[in-house]
Amino acid sequence: MITAYSKETTLKKENKKIMITNKKILVTGGAGFLGSHLCKKLLDMNNEVICLDNFYTGRAENINKLVNNDNFHVIKHDITHPIDLDIDMIFNFACPASPPHYQKDPIFTTKTSFLGTLNMLELAKKKNARIMQASTSEVYGDPKEHPQKESYQGNVNPTGIRACYDEGKRAAESLSFDFHRKHGVDIKVIRIFNTYGPHMDPKDGRVVSNFITQALANEPITMYGDGKQTRSFCYVDDLINGIIAMMSSSSDFVGPVNLGNPTEFNLLELAQQIIESTGSSSEISFLPLPKDDPTRRQPDISLAKEKLNWEPTIDLKTGIALTAPYFKALMKKEKAAQAIQAQM
Ligand code: UDP
Repeated sequence: MITAYSKETTLKKENKKIMITNKKILVTGGAGFLGSHLCKKLLDMNNEVICLDNFYTGRAENINKLVNNDNFHVIKHDITHPIDLDIDMIFNFACPASPPHYQKDPIFTTKTSFLGTLNMLELAKKKNARIMQASTSEVYGDPKEHPQKESYQGNVNPTGIRACYDEGKRAAESLSFDFHRKHGVDIKVIRIFNTYGPHMDPKDGRVVSNFITQALANEPITMYGDGKQTRSFCYVDDLINGIIAMMSSSSDFVGPVNLGNPTEFNLLELAQQIIESTGSSSEISFLPLPKDDPTRRQPDISLAKEKLNWEPTIDLKTGIALTAPYFKALMKKEKAAQAIQAQM
């Protein structure tokens, strides 16, 4: 399987044309923000794609443009239960990912990361399939090393409110590496940093979705804490290119590899950029900082540059200009639905 995969995959560093083609691919969490972009990209590269989602946070509207494609199949399934499918490749992306969503049912979040990843690794082992585990910058917790390199082992509070996600994802990485060492499973582990773009859930409570929807409505921007905490925001198209580059890379590079945009902003700068881009009259309203909220986050992406010849190309200003119209359209649709409801 690995040999066949290498033959059919072309990784041309000169022009960055990276392809995965003619495969049968399972994307768990395929109706989510990242999963849906991934499904589209894989279909565009001529693959058969099985989108598996329990629709806990995944949304049908993220995939409604794909369902007419004969190569696209949707299965409603929860990965905490085993499933048997004939596939060549797995992208394991299923897990609630925004803090309010993953904290809503924290035990389920841990189960999804641990049992879900276990089930997907068992499937990869059985089918001799390459598997990508979508890990996260959250494995670094509130980092004491800055920027974060893959070698940094993190500063996670194992009993805090973020632990269900952070420790769940750490356990999923550990499981992936043990399947690799014990059973030779062909794994790829990526650590995804803050990503934004169309298909984000406007109600998932994340900073980019909240700030853009608030700015568009000229409502107060909900700044948690003093706004001096930092994040580094990657536009979704850049991230998807990094994911494909990693999944196409040689089997001896298993990761973990950081994927994210290394340009760091504090949240006051983010708010300013969003207010400017949307021409908003919103003011900033300061609210309490949630517990265990990381103070700084910035990926060191030298490993991705070296091994995958990948780095983001879309800056924050451009990315926000590409994202705001998506939220604007959703808000317009919701307003129209409310107006109809009010007349009934
Ligand atoms: N945040 C904020 N206002 C919001 C939502 C989030 O100030 O309306 C802050 C949050 O406290 C954190 C940062 O924005 O410091 C990023 O939060 P997000 O939930 O997007 O992702 P995280 O990186 O924390 O997982």
